[in-house]
Amino acid sequence: NALSLSTTTIANDKLLDGLLVSSFDEASCFSRYQSYLYRKASSHKPSKYLIFKLRNYEHLHQSCGPSTKSYNKVMRKGTKFSKNDASTKCKYLVWTASNGLGNRIVTLVAAFLYAILTDRVLLVKFGTDMHGLFCEPFPGTSWLLPRNFPYWKDQKHIETYESMLKNNKVNTSHELLPAFIILNLQHTHDGHNNFFHCDQSQDLLQRIPVLILWSDQYFVPSLFMIPSFRQDLSKMFPEKDTVFHHLGRYLLHPSNEAWEIIRKFYEAHLAKANERIGLQVRVFNTHRAPHQTIINEIIACTLQHKLLPDFDMQKSATSPLKKPSKAVLVASLFSEYGQKLRTMYQANTTVTREVIRVYQPSHEERQKSNNDMHNIKAWTEIYLLSLCDALVTSPKSTFGYVAHSLGGLKPWILQRAYGETIPDPPCRRAKSMEPCFHYPPKYDCRANSTVDFTSIFHHMKHCEDVSSGLRLV
Ligand code: GDP
Repeated sequence: NALSLSTTTIANDKLLDGLLVSSFDEASCFSRYQSYLYRKASSHKPSKYLIFKLRNYEHLHQSCGPSTKSYNKVMRKGTKFSKNDASTKCKYLVWTASNGLGNRIVTLVAAFLYAILTDRVLLVKFGTDMHGLFCEPFPGTSWLLPRNFPYWKDQKHIETYESMLKNNKVNTSHELLPAFIILNLQHTHDGHNNFFHCDQSQDLLQRIPVLILWSDQYFVPSLFMIPSFRQDLSKMFPEKDTVFHHLGRYLLHPSNEAWEIIRKFYEAHLAKANERIGLQVRVFNTHRAPHQTIINEIIACTLQHKLLPDFDMQKSATSPLKKPSKAVLVASLFSEYGQKLRTMYQANTTVTREVIRVYQPSHEERQKSNNDMHNIKAWTEIYLLSLCDALVTSPKSTFGYVAHSLGGLKPWILQRAYGETIPDPPCRRAKSMEPCFHYPPKYDCRANSTVDFTSIFHHMKHCEDVSSGLRLV
């Protein structure tokens, strides 16, 4: 009957087609069960197998998470070798923060996927600058790394996996392996040259109970290169470009404090518009292209792709302004973008007679990634962008990647501008909604030579905005 059908539909929508479980207390995290009221239902459904893997993961996290017997047992060992570790089924992946919030979030999602694939429990080391951003994602347990973690403060003297590879410890017996190691996948560290995607590395890593991850990269394409993960991955993600879209919506729920800001802003400015266009303007070097060039580029891009209407220079039309309107959400560190665009649309009518309203929630002027309020603003703006109907984003920006991947959108990516010339074309549509992995490996583990992985894997392409990067498509 119709009533039960619609109740089922709502339950489905609310739980994002089965990604989420219904067992959480609603008041502890309003965004978890309210996001569906603000974002259109995704046209991409998670596979049954992905849902199965998530439920399994939740179970593992409950039995191995903080303050369980197994957790205490593994952590007590500290640097000692991992003797007898075959006896514990619990292994851990500790996520640590580096770089800005966008980088941190793409790494977090990549780490979660790695944890699922290797039956590890993901624990996050959040400082005060990240504590207020997200809800707990796993039911009946916590993902926060306890303060009594042996290396909370000092990780410097822990062995790294590269030094182990170099010293040829791959075949070392269990007793001589350390219980904790650092897995350094920072782009500044080894860039294109690490061996993480090689089977021999994974053989070694899987024998070590606690991995401490240092990374600022979306290394998911590396996971797709590892033969032992391939089958699981293709069952979990029959549509390969939905990895972040599904895992991000599963994992990243704005805290009540962040949600209050998002909801209020959305209801005040975005809810009533017929269409919401998000503009993410990340300028890495303000000397290379003046703000006006980038404004002109944005106008050229939005016009060319009919995201926003042209200005009516003749002021020929006399019909009254149509009420239907578009809301433009501008996210940028600089106030110039919102201000200039707002002035332009206030001073001119548009050829379609639509009213264009421009909003910019904040302008922080510079990146301050270790500051709580600054990160809340960044997170709420990323989330608001993800609720838009279409996005124009800046090249090489992980801030933009998180917004479009969460939203399930393929953005129009602006081209890098120099001086006063507007690039032609001003922007290009992304081939996929996945984030770009900026520094993917170039080493073919079997052939022991350099390779372009797009020639081996057809579901990987070079990114529109970073030619040496890789994106799943
Ligand atoms: P990326 O450097 O563009 O890849 O993105 P990240 O998020 O890793 O680092 C940029 C950081 O600068 C963000 O996390 C914010 O702290 C800040 N930031 C950059 N753009 C914006 C913006 O549009 N709004 C706000 N509130 N902060 C921004």
